[in-house]
Amino acid sequence: MSKSHAVIVEPSRELEVLGDYDVVVVGGGIAGVAAALASARGGAKTCLLEKFCALGGLATIGNVIIYLPLCDGRGHQVSAGICEELFRLSVNDEPSARPSLRIGPVPSCWERGGDESERTKRRMEVGFNPVTYMYKLERLLLKHHVTILYDTRFAGVVKAGSAIEAVIIESKGGRQALTTRAVVDASGDADVCQASGERTVSVGGNVRCGWYYYVDNGEVKLKCWSQPFSATKSFPQNGRTFRGDSARQVTGQVLESRHLQMQDLEKTRQANPGHDIFPIMTTTMPTHRMTRRLSGAITLRPTSVHRWYDDCVGIISDWRKAGPVYAVPFRALAAVRTGNLITAGRCISSLGDTWDVTRVIPACAVTGEAAGLAAAMLAIQRDGQETGATFAELDVRALQAALRRKGVLLDRHLVEDGAQA
Ligand SMILES: Cc1cc2nc3c(=O)[nH]c(=O)nc-3n(C[C@H](O)[C@H](O)[C@H](O)COP(=O)(O)OP(=O)(O)OC[C@H]3O[C@@H](n4cnc5c(N)ncnc54)[C@H](O)[C@@H]3O)c2cc1C
Repeated sequence: MSKSHAVIVEPSRELEVLGDYDVVVVGGGIAGVAAALASARGGAKTCLLEKFCALGGLATIGNVIIYLPLCDGRGHQVSAGICEELFRLSVNDEPSARPSLRIGPVPSCWERGGDESERTKRRMEVGFNPVTYMYKLERLLLKHHVTILYDTRFAGVVKAGSAIEAVIIESKGGRQALTTRAVVDASGDADVCQASGERTVSVGGNVRCGWYYYVDNGEVKLKCWSQPFSATKSFPQNGRTFRGDSARQVTGQVLESRHLQMQDLEKTRQANPGHDIFPIMTTTMPTHRMTRRLSGAITLRPTSVHRWYDDCVGIISDWRKAGPVYAVPFRALAAVRTGNLITAGRCISSLGDTWDVTRVIPACAVTGEAAGLAAAMLAIQRDGQETGATFAELDVRALQAALRRKGVLLDRHLVEDGAQA
């Protein structure tokens, strides 16, 4: 047997329990932030784990600073609730004063009392400052008494029957455990699903990419650098593409992306002789689009467009073109084999071209809010029960009513009407 296929047995050991939480959210990207906020507001004692030392994930550490549209491109806002709250929170220090970034503040037509006829021409999107935003997200969660554990990596689960009883973490404190009644997998890569024995799907289409800031004669510029990407087509000139579910693949994508970024910067220097050009901020996390996801009871797919689901817990639009609208069913978020596990963000059950729609910032906020509130409701139900309730048994109508009270749009017409347009 070659050494790479060898196995060793890890000795069993006792772990210190660092805390007990109603809800543990794994991952502090936009999906995790929305989930933790919804969970805390839902009355649950909530802990959020993040392996880096900032919130926002790709949206901040990844320098991906465009909050894509909350509207359908035909004048209707379809995503609201925490999705809109985080959208409006993002606008401080937004870079509208710098036209080279090509993104502006909230279009005035989308402000209260704005010109509604303009809404068919301007989509409801905004650019933000990643440094200010990561700070504001942090303050928001702290205000809601979410325990944030930075530099803390999710490392596994302990299950009792089909439910997660404890989450294993690794940090400077070593290997420890958090006991919990519900878990939200917002890791972007379905790490908790994988560790819990859920069926997952991995794709290998990630290209070399990475947005970076540089200074050109004193002006700060953002380079949205990426090799051509499509969720369904492959571009032969890209050469190798990458998965996101192993250390070798992740490292390969990061090393090659950074190398090509520097070459790209060199080309900019050569094209602008005499300019004083130097980089100031690159991403230090892997810039993966789609990696590994849950295979849920329902998988969103291109044929789901304009289809209403009775267990809809959020509505999202297609950032790439005006028109398409998707209802997100609760069953695309909830794990199948693990009663108290739910997903949010990049790792919900969604396929191909539709995965490309569900992975972006507003969609991650929408699924994050739904997952976080559902987790709070389940945790409160499980508290004190000997054999706990599961997401499969959760009263989805009660969840929908609670989401509506929080301002989430769950309107069948928003989804179906566009089909006739
Ligand atoms: C090049 C590129 C350009 C993009 N452009 C845009 C754009 O313009 N606008 C837009 O809206 N979207 C864009 N996207 C997509 C969007 O940024 C992301 O898909 C979205 O922000 C993902 O949010 P998330 O919370 O699901 O995941 P992530 O942002 O990936 O967050 C997951 C978090 O979990 C943490 N984590 C992972 N595993 C563990 C673990 N084991 N333990 C602890 N923590 C863990 C990670 O550190 C990370 O902070 C782009 C993506 C890429 C790659």
